[in-house]
This record gives sequence, structure tokens and C-alpha cells, in this order.
Amino acid sequence: NVGKISLDQIDSVSWKSFPLCMRQLHQSLRENHHLRHGGRMQYGLFLKGIGLSLEQALQFWKMEFIRGKVDADKFDKAYAYSIRHMFGKEGKRTDYTPYSCMKVILSNPPSQGDHHGCPFRHSDPELLKQKLQVYKVSPSGINQILELVKGMHYQLACQKYFELTHNIEDSSFSLNHPNQYFLESQKLLG
Ligand code: SF4
Repeated sequence: NVGKISLDQIDSVSWKSFPLCMRQLHQSLRENHHLRHGGRMQYGLFLKGIGLSLEQALQFWKMEFIRGKVDADKFDKAYAYSIRHMFGKEGKRTDYTPYSCMKVILSNPPSQGDHHGCPFRHSDPELLKQKLQVYKVSPSGINQILELVKGMHYQLACQKYFELTHNIEDSSFSLNHPNQYFLESQKLLG
């Protein structure tokens, strides 16, 4: 499905095929019409990785931001640059790649008001539990996930979440990247 995502599919795809980190970023963006820098980078590069074009990305972020406190003019001045930058169209023209799980887990931990990071690593376990309940993970599934988190096996916890939300016993991959999570999910869901 890479390259074939349309903007109005993102909500439904985020429920089915996004890992928790990206689902959380997407939801925060929709609710607050804003994401801080760390979130824009982590989520923006992920979206690029699932096939959003630069034009789609500009439209996507602008549509959401102008529903909040940012007007179109400010968006064009303050935010469009960094999105073009992400796609390698500004500055040093580096074509940035989406962050791996290790990078998300080990660098730039979120502070108050941030929504980026890995929820298995960075969320308080009680909050994580509530989130998983809202996302309809069974109580026994939640316990399994929290056990893995306690043992600091964050990617295994995420993989367990994948298995539980896709109704499979054993996933046949070893999770190391949010975009890999997405692709494996799309493969299963067809
Ligand atoms: Fe995202 Fe990776 Fe954490 Fe899963 S383990 S929530 S894909 S950073």
C-alpha cells in the first residue's frame, strides 16, 4: 500500500495499522491541532515512510494546524519549511529517514506536553494500561504487555500489542521499526 495512502484514509489506517507511538501522535495532533517539534519529526518521517508525498504532507499538516491557533500564513512561514526540510528539499537536502524503535526509545525522551517517544518506554505504566483499555486490549493481554514493559522489553511489548490487535498468536517478524510494524499490519489486513 505504500504510496497509495490518501489523506482521508489516515484516521482509519491509524486505528488498524499504526504502532502505539504513531497512533498516539496522530490522535494528539487531531485533538490539539498541533504537535511540538519532536512529535512533528517522529510522526512526519513515519508518514513519509508510509508513502505520503511532500504535497500530501504539506496539506495534511496545514489542514490540521489551521484548525488550531496557527493561521495559514503563519503555517507557511513557520512550519512548511521544516516539512520540506524533512523531505530533503531545504537546507542540506538530506533525505531524512524515519526513526527506528531504538532511536525513539533511546533518544530525546518526551517532556511534559510532548507526545512523541515510545509509549512502552516513556508512558507511566498506569497511563499505558488506561490507553490499552481504551484501545480494547483484553485484561490478560494488558497484563502480558505490562510484564514485558517491566522487564524493559519495550519492542516485545509492542509486538505483543501487534499480535493482540491483529488476532494472531505469533508474529513472524522481529520488530525494530515503526514503519515495519505498519507494513506487517498492512500485509495481514490485505
Ligand atoms: Fe513505536 Fe517501536 Fe515503541 Fe512500538 S516499540 S511503540 S513501533 S517506538
